[in-house]
Amino acid sequence: MAAGSEPSQPYTPESTAFRSALEVIRGVEPRVADAIGAEIEDQRASLKLIASENYASPAVLLAMGNWFSDKYAEGTVGRRFYAGCRNVDTVEALAAEHARELFGAPHAYVQPHSGIDANLVAFWAVLAQRVESPALERAQARHINDLSEEDWAQLRRALGDQRMLGMSLDAGGHLTHGFRPNISGKMFEQRSYGTHPATGLLDYDAVRAAAHEFRPLILIAGYSAYPRLVNFRIMREIADEVGATLMVDMAHFAGLVAGKVFTGDFDPVPHAQITTTTTHKSLRGPRGGMVLCDSSLAEYVDKGCPMVLGGPLPHVMAAKAVAFAEARQPQFQDYAQRIVDNAQALAEGLKRRGATLVTDGTDNHLVLIDVSGYGLTGRQAESALLDSGIVTNRNAIPQDPNGAWYTSGIRIGTPALTTRGLGTAEMDEVADLIDTVLARTTPGTTASGKPSKAQHTLAGGVAAQVSERAAELLAKHPLYPGIDLS
Ligand SMILES: *Cc1c(COP(=O)(O)O)cnc(C)c1O
Repeated sequence: MAAGSEPSQPYTPESTAFRSALEVIRGVEPRVADAIGAEIEDQRASLKLIASENYASPAVLLAMGNWFSDKYAEGTVGRRFYAGCRNVDTVEALAAEHARELFGAPHAYVQPHSGIDANLVAFWAVLAQRVESPALERAQARHINDLSEEDWAQLRRALGDQRMLGMSLDAGGHLTHGFRPNISGKMFEQRSYGTHPATGLLDYDAVRAAAHEFRPLILIAGYSAYPRLVNFRIMREIADEVGATLMVDMAHFAGLVAGKVFTGDFDPVPHAQITTTTTHKSLRGPRGGMVLCDSSLAEYVDKGCPMVLGGPLPHVMAAKAVAFAEARQPQFQDYAQRIVDNAQALAEGLKRRGATLVTDGTDNHLVLIDVSGYGLTGRQAESALLDSGIVTNRNAIPQDPNGAWYTSGIRIGTPALTTRGLGTAEMDEVADLIDTVLARTTPGTTASGKPSKAQHTLAGGVAAQVSERAAELLAKHPLYPGIDLS
């Protein structure tokens, strides 16, 4: 819109930007434009409690939709295998600089496309640094195009039988921490540590004992579904005792580190030799990953592409630079603190209504409800909540009797609702909505009349009543209030 002209209705730059973008897309494939428009409506209408999701700012979203997407930029800043990377260098250097400042890290590699990719880069870097093998040295010194068949054969042998110790899946660890269905479980011989059966808390003595017995090359800390603090100083001591490299995967809680809620012993970056993360969870950036490390690992980490990563996504690196700049603002620290305050209020509200929580509460952004107390499986609870407009995900709990598919847990998290502006008083209402649904859901029966782990029955009217109350709550905190596509 020309400067000085009077808009016919209130508009914001972001409304104009997204409306115009949809108009351009509609000219080619209207169904895609419609789906994008429908997605913001769906997100606006749902009470999103998925602990790994968030809402990135319009600036972050817009930084991704441009011609940076057209550039190949294999290599690193100032050392590319492709010509014409001047502007990509600018945004990649900015993203890395913001990341180093934000996390106090000596080195940041901002090319990984996702958290899983960041972990692969980290595994490669630690193997290349720590495993003695001429093939690994050659792979590190050259471009992978220049490796011979024999080099690759030697490399496969050198990588064999390396060991990794990580948190077990049912205690909240991640698939990429050495579990079978993931490539990490084929690259490494894996063993896991769990939580204390009585308290549900991480048992450092058990971690230490496992590390001394197993002698891993990599000790991994970090989780997707553990609601408590982890003391990374102790984890580093354990790693040092057995000569392991400490790797922390902070994919879930990076926003709490960036926002200075996790400091001292609970900030992984000063303690771990290498820290990986996603950028789209509590950190509230674009979908992507990142590796932070000390200077001894930097040269190995920077070789992530093309060793294990596809070409960098310059448009996403531009958005990472924007997101990290946002996270360096003082408001982000306030946001991070509110995430935890909200999670604790939600936990209290659930407990007051009789819910059982794994570890009886939370120190971070997530709460794990043991829904067996309601006589349900995680799958039944997840479906009943979804019927009522509440989006969560089922999750295994420690020693889960229902396994990883049906599960006995519901994982809920507060980063997204906190971005929307909901506060602690409203978390009590959210707790009431969740409790109301779960208390009025009963397991269904299978064809042969046995109790089903999948089917559920929700008492009449509950889904509609709860959806309406959720909609009222959301109406008070509109999502993307500056964006009007009508
Ligand atoms: C989410 C998550 C990942 C994977 O991130 P993607 O971006 O989905 O690849 C890795 N590790 C942990 C601990 C996670 O929670």
